[in-house]
Amino acid sequence: SDDDSGGEEYLFKIVIIGDSAVGKSNLLSRYARNEFNPHSKATIGVEFQTQSMGIDGKEVKAQIWDTAGQERFRAVTSAYYRGAVGALIVYDISRRTTFDSVGRWLDELKMHSDTTVARMLVGNKCDLETIRDVSVEEGKALAEEHDLFFMETSALDSTNVKKAFELVIREIYNNVS
Ligand code: GDP
Ligand code: MG
Repeated sequence: SDDDSGGEEYLFKIVIIGDSAVGKSNLLSRYARNEFNPHSKATIGVEFQTQSMGIDGKEVKAQIWDTAGQERFRAVTSAYYRGAVGALIVYDISRRTTFDSVGRWLDELKMHSDTTVARMLVGNKCDLETIRDVSVEEGKALAEEHDLFFMETSALDSTNVKKAFELVIREIYNNVS
């Protein structure tokens, strides 16, 4: 949207969803602060982190929301989803049950959104190749079926984390500009 100074500012809300312990909080802390926590407990306090990137010479701010662990009780509220224009739906490639839950998360996201949402399916923990439980092909196929972007990531070794967030932010920008 235009402001009076002649420049343009963008602020996009992005939500991270998926089963408990798939690495949502660590993906965000890796992206926003380049930090990883091997013993992370349920997020306390901070609801979101803001991260900026430049696109077409404009400053684009992403306000990225993390759950406070309420997904454990299937109690993510509509306030969490309100106004979101982007979403990362995360599963853990070493735990198939978290992949099986993706459909339910997509339904919940759809139920709560009243606008176009840029959506990316994220298979996190790709560093755990030796105990992989969901193949890359399965991830790709599910993403194609639901018309989602797809990437495997590792919050632990940083693989594709920045790429995943920035691709979603760019897609949102394309949707609104
Ligand atoms: P959340 O409940 O989805 O927010 O998951 P967390 O970010 O709290 O992570 C749950 C557990 O998985 C923690 O012990 C993390 O250290 C671990 N974890 C998160 N991301 C990765 C990753 O990419 N690779 C590995 N090996 N472990 C991860
Ligand atoms: Mg968390």
